[in-house]
Amino acid sequence: MKITEILKNNKRTLSFEVFPPKTNSDFEAVKEAAYRVAALKPAFMSVTYGAGGSTCGNTLAIASGIQNTYGVAATAHLTCVGATRRSILSALDDMRAAGIENILALRGDRPDWMEGEPFKEYRYASELAETIKEYGGFCIGGACYPEGHPDSATREEDIENLKKKVDAGCEFLTTQMFFDNNIFYEFMERVRQAGIEVPVIAGIMPVTRASQVENAVKLSGCTMPLKLKKIADSFGENREAMQQAGIIYAAEQIVDLYANGIKNVHVYSMNNAEAAGAVLNNLSDILK
Ligand SMILES: Cc1cc2nc3c(=O)[nH]c(=O)nc-3n(C[C@H](O)[C@H](O)[C@H](O)COP(=O)(O)OP(=O)(O)OC[C@H]3O[C@@H](n4cnc5c(N)ncnc54)[C@H](O)[C@@H]3O)c2cc1C
Repeated sequence: MKITEILKNNKRTLSFEVFPPKTNSDFEAVKEAAYRVAALKPAFMSVTYGAGGSTCGNTLAIASGIQNTYGVAATAHLTCVGATRRSILSALDDMRAAGIENILALRGDRPDWMEGEPFKEYRYASELAETIKEYGGFCIGGACYPEGHPDSATREEDIENLKKKVDAGCEFLTTQMFFDNNIFYEFMERVRQAGIEVPVIAGIMPVTRASQVENAVKLSGCTMPLKLKKIADSFGENREAMQQAGIIYAAEQIVDLYANGIKNVHVYSMNNAEAAGAVLNNLSDILK
């Protein structure tokens, strides 16, 4: 089922992101973890794509497995950094053959082994969205950044580029994780002012390990509220306590989003079915 069809219902949704195995040797273990998340029957799921195409086949295998085994619609992520038009068309053929209907079109970041190489045929995700649209048959999503993408000089410039991505064919957007809802609400004002009208799915990550706080700041440039820093400082040494506190923080964020009329939330589950299930349980009546 296409994500736009699911979002059209105007009901609150909670969906989950999982990642595929990085190597064939850990395929079964990672697949089992991703499937445990799918067994929770979220509104839909997304499966990430290794930088530079390193997990291409595994993304497809997990996404189609989720659809076929659990009847949960899946979005396969696809990146274009280092790709050629030919390799993208071949990936689209594989996706169509595997029954994938939804693609999150991404630029991706150059992995270390690609450092210094010139861009090949794709420079931005909008160019990938154009190719997918031209190919036809897929529902296309894109990424967006409430705090601005690190490559953008200003948030205004980033929103202008986001508009280009939507004009190129993205029918929905999923946000980078954020830990302060006010940042998201301000972003949404700017998005709508820019004339971007597609659904925007809010990305929330339950922090289950203290190291994730540091990584979110370092890798994604997210603002870390003092409240969450204190949670990590207080409970970080105790795995169970940290996970419990992180789940409560994420559930509170989601309740606030729903209460403010935001209908669609995507949870970065990190293949942790226990945490994903706990978030879902906290919201069971709200999602009815
Ligand atoms: C929801 C989500 C899911 C993700 N999943 C994955 C994944 O599965 N695998 C993975 O490797 N990475 C993933 N990423 C990370 C993503 O690949 C990186 O953040 C990457 O740096 C940017 O990708 P993008 O698609 O947002 O790029 P783009 O939309 O191309 O934007 C990148 C930068 O270029 C600028 N830009 C865009 N278009 C133009 C233009 N026409 N002219 C000038 N400047 C422009 C933008 O403002 C921005 O600064 C994900 C990110 C998010 C938020």
